[in-house]
Amino acid sequence: KLSQRLQYIMEQIPAGSRLADIGSDHGLLPVAAVRSGRVTQAVAGEVNDGPLRAAQKQVAEAGLTDRITVRRGDGLAVITAHEVDIITIAGMGGALIASILEQGKDKLDSVKRLILQPNVGEDILRRWLIEHQWVLTGEHIMEEDGKIYEVLTAVPVSDSPVKQDELYRPLALSGSSLVLTQNWLEQLGPLLVREPNEVFFRKWKLEIHKLQNVLAQLARSEQESAQQKQEQLRKQIEQLKEVLACLP
Ligand code: SAM
Repeated sequence: KLSQRLQYIMEQIPAGSRLADIGSDHGLLPVAAVRSGRVTQAVAGEVNDGPLRAAQKQVAEAGLTDRITVRRGDGLAVITAHEVDIITIAGMGGALIASILEQGKDKLDSVKRLILQPNVGEDILRRWLIEHQWVLTGEHIMEEDGKIYEVLTAVPVSDSPVKQDELYRPLALSGSSLVLTQNWLEQLGPLLVREPNEVFFRKWKLEIHKLQNVLAQLARSEQESAQQKQEQLRKQIEQLKEVLACLP
């Protein structure tokens, strides 16, 4: 059975798609996507031997070797240009996902949708998407087994109903003088921040808690630079609290 996280990612794939799942590990996502009938052909990409073998086994046992090819390689090197229309990359850091997309830019021309699930560094990934003309059409935050996940869905600017600058236009908060500038929106998520759910608030309360721990450590440091850092951090925590208090 798929985890709720992978299930949600799979549901973002339109029917009739050709999929590449990069960093597929056990290959669960492409197998489920083909079984569901959403995906006609899939490539499961893996850079490491163990996961590669696990994916090969999974696909063989599912009897889907005619639909899913498991390929060894780094990032998008496993696909050719125009081979797929959907790419999923899940369960890695945002910086790694962004670097996989950056290195494989020439493979993205035919791609109609990216479905990405960074474990951390969501802001780095949102920045990459902005800089490369991909527009967020969906942001989802969920919790499973005590872990919080964000799933970002993006389409090329030319297919997007929304303009990039509308999405990242500075957002005034009611009841506060704070304005959420692009930097803030990259951190929090321009769509999530407009409709924050309980998990969103939990995530950012946990972040505040982490920052407060760093602050407490700095307070014990004798170094002069620590003092400056403390000031910055204190301000950051205050602002974050204010933002959370002013969201709907
Ligand atoms: N995508 C699956 C999921 O979300 O459940 C597996 C996530 S697993 C934590 C990350 C996988 O990405 C590992 O199997 C790892 O070998 C693979 N990986 C890491 N860097 C990669 C790269 N540059 N290209 C392809 N696969 C990569």
